[in-house]
Amino acid sequence: MVKGKRIKEGNFIKFLGTAGARFVMIKQLRASGGIWIKANNVNILIDPGPGSIVRCASSKPKLDPCQLDAIILTHRHLDHSNDVNVMIEAMTGGGFKKRGFLFLPQDAIENDSLVLKHALNFVGSVEFLKEKTDYKIGAFNFTTGPRNVHPVETYGLKFIINKKNISLIGDTAFYPEILDFFKSDILIINTVFYEPRPNVQHLSFEEAKQIISKLRPKTTILTHFGMTMLRAKPHILVENLKQELNLDIVAAYDGMSIFP
Ligand SMILES: [Zn+2]
Ligand SMILES: [Zn+2]
Repeated sequence: MVKGKRIKEGNFIKFLGTAGARFVMIKQLRASGGIWIKANNVNILIDPGPGSIVRCASSKPKLDPCQLDAIILTHRHLDHSNDVNVMIEAMTGGGFKKRGFLFLPQDAIENDSLVLKHALNFVGSVEFLKEKTDYKIGAFNFTTGPRNVHPVETYGLKFIINKKNISLIGDTAFYPEILDFFKSDILIINTVFYEPRPNVQHLSFEEAKQIISKLRPKTTILTHFGMTMLRAKPHILVENLKQELNLDIVAAYDGMSIFP
């Protein structure tokens, strides 16, 4: 089936952006639109960073944010959340239809709220993410991981599409439970740095390699690249790693879709 038709009719995961960390996002060396998932006719947008709405409109075929059933913010950092208000407007038909789900950690709207008060009122159901908890959006279920190691509250996600277990580790420093909790058929790793930087709570390519060697997923997708990863050329790193580990490993690019 051709790609456009598969996006219109089937289940898919589309990377509207692959930028990780501040400078790749600010310079838009990679887009920061988040990840759109369609599964069992449920449309979910994870982490709508800056330009997410533009990336939806310029997708081929177009992705219509008015069709969204849920928005998941893994955490409050801007590269994951900047477009949340406009996406809520879209999901709720310009604010005229109270509908849809918004999932986010409590610290995203406590004190300095990312979500405008009036936008929050448009949403059908606002649910706080907690660790290792199950959530339901119609026919789509997901589970959060342990609390990640990051300066703000955030969790990885696990879900099933077409009987495949899929994990998104999210932004975090390495912690041992990753090697147990995120075992899956398709593993998505936010790989911000090329080499580990002990004082900054993000995964590096070196750590991603350890995780892949241990979990041996059928397919691994590296995304959320920072400057040092882009300089090291993710597609070349991945090509070498594939041969070394004899596993399917992909470097995500803006606009990439997979069909689990
Ligand atoms: Zn990030
Ligand atoms: Zn972050």
